[in-house]
Amino acid sequence: MDSRPNIAIDGPAGSGKSTVAKKVAEELGFLYIDTGAMYRAVTLKALRNGVDFDDLAALGEVAASAVVDLIAGPDGSLKVLLDHEDVTEEIRSPNISRSVSLTARVPAVRKRLVELQQAMAKQGGVVMEGRDIGTVVLPNARIKIFLTASSGERSRRRLQELSAKGYEIAQYQMEKEILERDRLDATREIGPLTPAPDAEIIDCTDLSIEQVVGLITDRALAGR
Ligand code: C5P
Repeated sequence: MDSRPNIAIDGPAGSGKSTVAKKVAEELGFLYIDTGAMYRAVTLKALRNGVDFDDLAALGEVAASAVVDLIAGPDGSLKVLLDHEDVTEEIRSPNISRSVSLTARVPAVRKRLVELQQAMAKQGGVVMEGRDIGTVVLPNARIKIFLTASSGERSRRRLQELSAKGYEIAQYQMEKEILERDRLDATREIGPLTPAPDAEIIDCTDLSIEQVVGLITDRALAGR
């Protein structure tokens, strides 16, 4: 059995994927890759360039010209660079969250980012999180997890993250935005948000982060 398998973690917005994926990577000494950050970086570039989000060709061109780098820090943190500029904080703004699904539905954008993601995982030993990792990006990943939680719990978690960064949004508004993003992500034609047929679905509404991390690292270690 491969000693450094790839681990795919998918799921809807706010399901805790990032926190869990980061910790799993830390425990296993694997590389953590946040694919949502890549779609967010392309969205930021589109917004800065004043691109019309209905202009699919223009969005494709933005993705083709964007240099997106993910830099892992020694402490497990991940820096996101867009055209060599650090945009780690900026891509988390509610403004980006509201537009990112419009960028992510564009086939040319997905094609480009999926190729980059596949190249990053070529050597094995990555924990990659997103929406289409188990289905499209890494269909051969040995471990596939689809992480979910109730929409109330997911919006509560997102609110906590955002208020720590100084953003004030009402819970009902947050829940509405999360559900709309999930709807767009789940209904697009290419790489929709859906569990791979062989994914293990974990509902973490009532589980702690540590419990979910434990479940996943157990799966990875069991195959060694
Ligand atoms: O994970 P995060 O919430 O940062 O993802 C932001 C958005 O990026 C998602 O709502 C989705 O539209 C898009 N995305 C995607 N495919 C991925 C990862 C993210 O379409 N693999």
